[in-house]
Amino acid sequence: MAYFNNETVLYFDGQFSKASETKIDLYSQSLHYGYAVFEGIRSYKTVSGKTKILEAKAHYDRLKRSAEALNLPYTYETETLIRHTYDLLEKNNIQNAYIRPLVFAPDNMSFNANNVSHLVIQCWEQPKFLGEKLLRVGISGFQRPNPQAFKIYAKAAGHYVNSIMASQEVKSKGFDEALLLDQHGYVAEGPGANIFIEKDGKLFTPSLGYILPGITRQLVIELCEELEIPVFEKEINVSELKQADAAFYCGTAAEVVGFESIDEYKFPLKWSDSVSAKLQNAFNKLVIAD
Ligand code: PMP
Repeated sequence: MAYFNNETVLYFDGQFSKASETKIDLYSQSLHYGYAVFEGIRSYKTVSGKTKILEAKAHYDRLKRSAEALNLPYTYETETLIRHTYDLLEKNNIQNAYIRPLVFAPDNMSFNANNVSHLVIQCWEQPKFLGEKLLRVGISGFQRPNPQAFKIYAKAAGHYVNSIMASQEVKSKGFDEALLLDQHGYVAEGPGANIFIEKDGKLFTPSLGYILPGITRQLVIELCEELEIPVFEKEINVSELKQADAAFYCGTAAEVVGFESIDEYKFPLKWSDSVSAKLQNAFNKLVIAD
C-alpha cells in the first residue's frame, strides 16, 4: 500500500510540509530502540457529509499520557492538535482517514533523556470497513508484556514488537488474527484491539492492568449501557472464552469485528443473532453520526 504520493501533506514540528520532502534523522533514539509513542485515530464522513474525527480528544489526551509515561518531552495542547488534524485532512482532501500522530526522540544513541522531541501527524485514506467476515483467531504463544517491564497503558512503539511477533506467528498457522494472554494466562487482547466475549446475552471484557485501555473499548461499554446490554470487566480465562456464545475485537482500526472461532472452538451463536452484532450495528451508526 502507498501511504503517500507527491501531493501528500503531513504535519511536522509545527508546520505542514510535503511527505515526500520531509526527512527524519537516522540517528533518532526512536528508530534504534523503539522509544516513541503514537496514536491511531480515525475520521469519518458523517451522514450529512461532514468530516468527523472520532474521539479526537480522548486520542490526543492518551498521546500526552503515553509521552509522559515514557518521559518524552510533550508540549502540545490537545485542542491545537485537533485543529491541525482537521486542517491536515482538508489539505489532503480526505474524509475517511486513518490518522497517525507519532512523538519521537531526536538523535541520541544513548539511553539518556531528551530535552526535545518531534511530532509528526500523518493521514491516509481508510475506506469505511463494512465487511461482515468473521475472524478465525488463534491464541499466540507470545504473552502481553509484563506491566512491571513496560508502562502497558502507554501506546509505545516498542510494545508493538510483541504485537508483530504474535500476529505473524498465528498467521503463519493460517489464522486471521492473534489473541494474546497475559503473564498469568488470562485473556488479554489482540495485537491491536481489545476483546469482548458474550455469554447468555451479557458481555465481558478483561479488566485494565494488562491491556491498552482502548478508546473503542470505552465506547463499547458506554453503548452497552445505552442499549441495556449488561457488561462486566473481569479476569477471563481461556476455558470461559472457549465456552462463550460469541466474541469480538474492537479498536480504532478494527472497529467492531466478530469472531468465527478461537483455535479449534467455533462460536455457537449465529453472529446476527448475538447481542454483539446489535452492538456492532450501533457502533457503525455512531461513527458516522453528526
Ligand atoms: N490494544 C492494543 C494493543 C492496540 O494497539 C489497540 C489499538 N490502539 C487497542 C487495544 C484498541 O485501542 P483503541 O480502541 O484506542 O484504538
